[in-house]
Amino acid sequence: MTRLKALELHGFKSFADRTRFEFHSGVTAIVGPNGSGKSNVVDAIKWVLGEQSVRSLRGKEMTDVIFAGAAGRRPLNSAETTLIFDNTARELSLANDEVRIGRRVYRSGESEYLINGEVCRLRDIRELFSGTGAATEAYSVIEQGRVDKLLVSSGKERRGVFEEAAGITKFRTRRAEALRRLERTEQNRQRLADIVGEVASRLETVLRQAARAKRWRVLSERLKRCRLAAASHDLTGVDAELIQFEQERAQLATACHEARESLAA
Ligand code: ATP
Repeated sequence: MTRLKALELHGFKSFADRTRFEFHSGVTAIVGPNGSGKSNVVDAIKWVLGEQSVRSLRGKEMTDVIFAGAAGRRPLNSAETTLIFDNTARELSLANDEVRIGRRVYRSGESEYLINGEVCRLRDIRELFSGTGAATEAYSVIEQGRVDKLLVSSGKERRGVFEEAAGITKFRTRRAEALRRLERTEQNRQRLADIVGEVASRLETVLRQAARAKRWRVLSERLKRCRLAAASHDLTGVDAELIQFEQERAQLATACHEARESLAA
């Protein structure tokens, strides 16, 4: 079974120093006077598992979880929390004996989630833990006052707790997601069908235009050939005339020569 091994806090709420809680098998109790930070430990677990409600973390802004300073201690600029699980039984779908889930927030408001030191999305963490009972809304975190609420809650809410314990929630979430994706795909399909209809009507016009363009090309080829033939025909006529003129010129030259000779004589 996936077992919570340890919790590490650094800069989270009252835990200015790096603090590690070891959870051995059996029951671990954290004892301390009022206001010593016991609930902060629960807050840290909820926070790292993706708690988004600032109010549920007893703050006004998400950055309120960062150590705000105390007598003789300056405030810190970031808060980090890591939950360490024993995964030798490979219940979490990762090939590591130990799985470290982390969340960090900076004063700038920037924040990140980590799985084994690698930045990831909250969704990856939720997916990793769904069906294991480890989630902010699951049965694994029951805060002060929530035991009562669980007992008096409606059948639907109680059923939710059992479903998570039975590992059904994971499939419910996946189903809902698959349905959403299916709906999106259907919308895309409809949009595509519209486009196909539009394109089909334009295709007819384009085909007509293409046929006309093809005929134009054939005819202009023919015109070019005709023009060439006509030009070559003209050229042949001119050649014949030229030969004729040449002959006439030669005759006239001879006549002129003879006339000059008789004149001289
Ligand atoms: P209770 O007896 O009420 O259950 P508790 O032991 O659960 O008390 P918490 O409520 O966890 O105590 O801790 C509250 C303490 O944490 C307060 O002293 C508060 O000043 C301190 N604290 C909360 N947030 C911060 C913060 N951001 N920086 C420094 N200290 C903080």
